[in-house]
Amino acid sequence: MNNPYYLTTPIYYVNAKPHLGHIYTTMLCDVMVQYQKLLGKDAMFLTGVDEHGDKIVKAAASASLSVQDYVDLISGEFQNVWKNLHIQNNDFIRTTEERHKKVVQNILQTLFDKGDIYLSQYEGYYCFGCERYLTEKEMDSEGKCPDHQIEPEIIKESNYFFKLQKYLPRWETMLKNNSNLIQPDQYYKEILGTIHELMKTGEDLSISRPVKRLQWGIPIPFDEQFVTYVWFDALVNYISALDYPDGEKFHTYWPQAHHMIAKDILKPHGIFWPAMLMAADIEIFQNLYVHGYWLGLNDLKMSKSMQNAFNPLDLIHSIGLDSFRYFLMKEMTFGSDSKFTDEALKNRLNQDLSNNLGNLIQRTLSMIKKYCNGNIPPKNPEMDYIIKPANLLSDASKNYHSCMQTFQFSKALDNILEIIDLLNKSIEEKKPWALAKTNDPELLPFLRLLMDGIGFCMHYMKPFLAEKFRLFTEITGLTVRENFPGKLQEILYNESLPENWEILFPRID
Ligand SMILES: [Zn+2]
Repeated sequence: MNNPYYLTTPIYYVNAKPHLGHIYTTMLCDVMVQYQKLLGKDAMFLTGVDEHGDKIVKAAASASLSVQDYVDLISGEFQNVWKNLHIQNNDFIRTTEERHKKVVQNILQTLFDKGDIYLSQYEGYYCFGCERYLTEKEMDSEGKCPDHQIEPEIIKESNYFFKLQKYLPRWETMLKNNSNLIQPDQYYKEILGTIHELMKTGEDLSISRPVKRLQWGIPIPFDEQFVTYVWFDALVNYISALDYPDGEKFHTYWPQAHHMIAKDILKPHGIFWPAMLMAADIEIFQNLYVHGYWLGLNDLKMSKSMQNAFNPLDLIHSIGLDSFRYFLMKEMTFGSDSKFTDEALKNRLNQDLSNNLGNLIQRTLSMIKKYCNGNIPPKNPEMDYIIKPANLLSDASKNYHSCMQTFQFSKALDNILEIIDLLNKSIEEKKPWALAKTNDPELLPFLRLLMDGIGFCMHYMKPFLAEKFRLFTEITGLTVRENFPGKLQEILYNESLPENWEILFPRID
């Protein structure tokens, strides 16, 4: 296959079980990968877990497990969730794997040898309760550790630093020459601002912790007194999974690399990672995509710190995987925050899926059964004027594709929902039940045009509604001949419908 495409989720931190935030990020990527496959791309989809660091050692201790047993357990839960959600990742990387460690050490050694890593004094806020440095973000409004309610002490120790400053001007220039590198635009602007601030401080990036405090990490290859700290470990997963530097996968997929993250990890991905790539003489990724948060349940960010976060798997069990996936992808405008409420969920699913799409399908199939003995009418190109969608369909598909390419899934779906609307209205206007009474020659071609419109919509909704697509195909024999990008060649169906079929989009109460 040619035409590679590479997409990554962040690697999730295994100090807690998977929650809605993880699920949303991963589903966004899965939809994109299914879409790229529709375009005929050879799509490689990577997800995984970050298994190192002091928080994980703590979490293991509080679960009374060895660290290894603990990370095995939680990593297994992540993999199970992805399986249950039919996520089609090609690989799952864990940072405790040998293949990852050796790449991290290789890059550290390369950068040390060229003088981009040096030993210096690190000063920071240290909580003796947590046994680690806290960032200012992690402290509460009174400057205390939220877990221990004590003020962290400022301490100094030797650590290794990466010459971040050396690469900031070059990265800034690259960004200014390509405003699409980070999307949506608000995050691109935010990163330019952060680069500016960082240049003013002159600070480099601390990349190690002393072994005497933290053992659960990747040893620094040129100094056994230290282990690698956070980002020089975690970020490298995007290339270690491709067998950098010599792997065939690296050569194939890395030139088409796209990253998806939530906005809380914008700085490391939007600044540290490109600087690390530049230092290691590796090409920069194609795009960094950034999404917002789901708000709900008292407007709190649904995260690992929120103990009362609802269990998405229970919800999926009751409304179905496709409906859940459709809601997440349609409800949130990419890049912004969105509210997750029962009401929003019910309204969205009933309106878009039951009332619009579901109703269109059910009415059309029932009319074919009633007026045509279940035989799906053949195409009749001379009668295409009956509904006017020819141009509308090509416009809709053009807009759909341009939105899909940049994760604007909600907007992409709007184009399809408009077509569904138009088809429903055309039924009201054309009144096929009246045509049937007078044996009007327009009846059969009209029903066929409805079926073609439905096939068009189902095809474009396939990355969102895989299971419903499969069911619809089972009922009707839908086959789509395509000539991408942007053009459906032909929509084919079985000659006839089965006796009965399952209602595809029942209402939710
Ligand atoms: Zn603490």
